[in-house]
Amino acid sequence: MKATLNDYCEIVGEEVIELLTRLARPLSQKKVVHVNSTRTGGGVAEILDRLIPVKRELGIDATWEVIEGNGDFYQATKGMHNALQGKAVDIPEKLLREYEETNRQNLENLKDTLADADYVFIHDPQPAPLLSQIGKRSGKWIWRCHIDASRPYRPIWKYLKEFVQRYDASIFSLATFAQPLSNLQYLIPPSIDPLSDKNIPLDESEISKVRERFGLDPDRPLLLQVSRYDWFKDPVGVIEAYKLTKKYLPVQLVLAGGTADDDPEGAEVLSAVREAAGNDPDIHVLLLPPDAHRTINALQRSADIVLQKSTREGFGLTVTEALWKGKPVIGGNTGGITLQVVDYHTGFLVNTPEGAAFRLRYLLTRPHLASNMGQEARSFVRDHFLLTRHLRDYLTLMLSLQNGAGSRIII
Ligand code: UDP
Repeated sequence: MKATLNDYCEIVGEEVIELLTRLARPLSQKKVVHVNSTRTGGGVAEILDRLIPVKRELGIDATWEVIEGNGDFYQATKGMHNALQGKAVDIPEKLLREYEETNRQNLENLKDTLADADYVFIHDPQPAPLLSQIGKRSGKWIWRCHIDASRPYRPIWKYLKEFVQRYDASIFSLATFAQPLSNLQYLIPPSIDPLSDKNIPLDESEISKVRERFGLDPDRPLLLQVSRYDWFKDPVGVIEAYKLTKKYLPVQLVLAGGTADDDPEGAEVLSAVREAAGNDPDIHVLLLPPDAHRTINALQRSADIVLQKSTREGFGLTVTEALWKGKPVIGGNTGGITLQVVDYHTGFLVNTPEGAAFRLRYLLTRPHLASNMGQEARSFVRDHFLLTRHLRDYLTLMLSLQNGAGSRIII
């Protein structure tokens, strides 16, 4: 059974829930639609899966729509994702036309829902053209960018900007991602749900069953990275860091990933990862189904240290999930990871596999320090990155747009 808002009182305190109830009152019965391009896989789906039910519980008429496309569409949108994260990719004209056409086709079904919604949240580039295509609409439209857009590849950003500028507001996760745009910009980092299957406390027996299932030795240090198989997550760099550490310590490594419906690059990355892993019995490359939340939860709880060695990262929910479980995180010095990993407090930021290996060894040989950092990590997440804070920011944003406020929200 899914958690209700009252269940969060124990974690965040009653006053937080009271504030949410008060903020939601003027938004009662407002029609709010979120649109993205996948119901499972990746951080956006993870967030919407929880954000929608709690908004509904607060009396807001919130729904979640998913647009669908074919291979060319996802090829185009993956190219945009990579380009926003700074890769110089040129997307052929034919794919751009397919991108726009796919949005037009999806709009046929969504038109009535979107035209009279009070608030429409469009997530990432995939459904971005919907606003230009809809014509008449009555509500406020907000473009929510989850990507590390700090240094976008200009030609593609120029193309996308034409769609994005038309929105009433845009949301970025970090100040450094914000772009010169004519609309209002809000800064709202994402969040995790402490009561979801991914994050709830688990019995030791369930955790050890997962360890047994994957042949993990409970007596040796376990390193973990959970990620879609994506170049920007640098799984091959993680294997390099593991190999450097293995020279000194008897570590094991789990790379746990899956595929997302809207990510066509996964297979290519996975095969590079398998090749880098070779036949080392202590490297476990797992391909998990999209609903393996408790399995990932158990792996994160089993790990001694969690890595997220991304070279670009919009936010990195996997980092938040690990910190919440009291694990220090060694993370790439980039994007949203820098908001969460604080050197010597919640983990270490690194730039190279060598740097990651250095910090792995540092922490593995100082278990007391690692444990103290883990505790600090958990309270850091409680203060900044739980669902209730995220919900408060969304409610505040809707109220500010409703009241015509022209200022930015910075948390
Ligand atoms: N995730 C998952 N299964 C996988 C890989 C990732 O459930 O095989 C989850 C992960 O636990 C996290 C989300 O997907 O909640 C990934 O979000 P993140 O912000 O880290 O990265 P994104 O995939 O959005 O780039």
